[in-house]
Amino acid sequence: MSVPRLEIRLDRIHHNAKTLVDRLAPLGIGVIGVTKAALGLPEIARELLSAGVTRIGDARIENIERMKRARLSCEFTLIRSPMISQAERVVANAEVSHNTEIEVVERLSACAQTQGRTHGVLLMVELGDLREGILPAQLPGFVDQILRLPNIAFRGIGTNLACQNGVSPDQENMNALSSLADSLEATFGLEVETVSGGNSANLGWALSTTDAGRVNALRLGEAILLGRDPLHRKAIDGLYTDAFTLVAEVIECKRKPTKPWGELGQAAFGPVKARTDCGLISQAILALGRQDIDPDGLEAPDGMEILGASSDHLVLDTGPTSPAIGSEVMFLLNYSALLRAMTSPFVTRVVATQGERESQLPA
Ligand SMILES: *Cc1c(COP(=O)(O)O)cnc(C)c1O
Repeated sequence: MSVPRLEIRLDRIHHNAKTLVDRLAPLGIGVIGVTKAALGLPEIARELLSAGVTRIGDARIENIERMKRARLSCEFTLIRSPMISQAERVVANAEVSHNTEIEVVERLSACAQTQGRTHGVLLMVELGDLREGILPAQLPGFVDQILRLPNIAFRGIGTNLACQNGVSPDQENMNALSSLADSLEATFGLEVETVSGGNSANLGWALSTTDAGRVNALRLGEAILLGRDPLHRKAIDGLYTDAFTLVAEVIECKRKPTKPWGELGQAAFGPVKARTDCGLISQAILALGRQDIDPDGLEAPDGMEILGASSDHLVLDTGPTSPAIGSEVMFLLNYSALLRAMTSPFVTRVVATQGERESQLPA
C-alpha cells in the first residue's frame, strides 16, 4: 500500500456517531454530522447517515457538491456563511445555509427564484465567542427582513462557541439561545424549527444538562471523527480516538548525537527548543512533512518522540528500537493534523470497514 496514507476505519466512525446519536436522543437533540475535516468524503457521510445522523453539514460548498455527486440523499446544510460569489451553487446544492449578512440572503433569494427552488436559512447568533453571528439585539430586525424575501424559508437559529475565543457552552448561553427562539415565535407568530446549539464543544454541556431547552440540534465533527471533546481535547467516554491513523515510511535511520553542532540560528520553521544531551540516540527520518500534516498534532507510537519537522521530513527519536529502512510507523492524529492529511495531495486515503488493528476502545 502506498505511503504516506491515512487509514480510515468506517466501523469506528459508525460506532462514535451512533453512540452520540443515542446519548443525545433522550434530550430531544438530533445530530448534524459535520464532514468538513474529511473533505466531504462520501463513504464517511454515508456511514454517519446509517448511524442515525439526520442531516449533514459542511463548511464548503465543494464538499457538499462532492457528496451530492455521490448520490447521498439527505438534507445538506452549509455551515459557513455563503460567499456571495457562490450563492448560485449554494442554492443549487445545499437545502439550508447558515447566514449573518442580509446582502447574502438577498442574493440567495434571487438565485432561488431563478432556479425555482426554496432555500432554507438558519441565522447564526453571536453569543460571546466573537466569530460569526448576528448580535441578539439585531436578530428580530434581521428576521423581519428575511421573512419578506421570496423563495427563502426561515428555518431557525444557531450559535457557534468555543472556536475563536474558547467560550464554553453552558446553561446560561444555551438558555439565551432558547429564549431567542421563544421570543421570535412570540413576535412573528412563526415556528423556529431548528435551534442548532453548537459543535462538539457543546457535548460537555449537553451530556450533563437535564434541560436542553429549545436546543434540538448539535453539529458534530471532531467528536464523531476523533472521539474527542475540543474544549479539553479529552477522549470522550466510550468512543474511539483512532478511527483515523497516519502511516509513514522510514527513509533514514542512524545513531546520531542529541545535540546539533555549529553556530545556531533559526531552523526552517522558526526557533528550535534546546534539548538535553543524551549522547547518541536512534534517529529516524520519515517521508512526511508539514505539507502533509501538522507535526504538533501527531502522536508517535509508545517509546518514540517527534523531534521536529520541515516541509518534507519528520524526524523521530525512535528510542530503543531502530526501524528498518522502508518500514512503516503509525501515528494518531489530532484535528489539525487530520485536516492537513486529508488535504495533502501526497497522502493516500484508505477507507476500511474493519482492520486487524487492536481496538483501543475500553470494553
Ligand atoms: C466546524 C464546525 C462545526 C463542527 O465542529 P466540531 O468541533 O468538529 O464538532 C460546527 N459548526 C460550525 C459552524 C463549524 O464551522
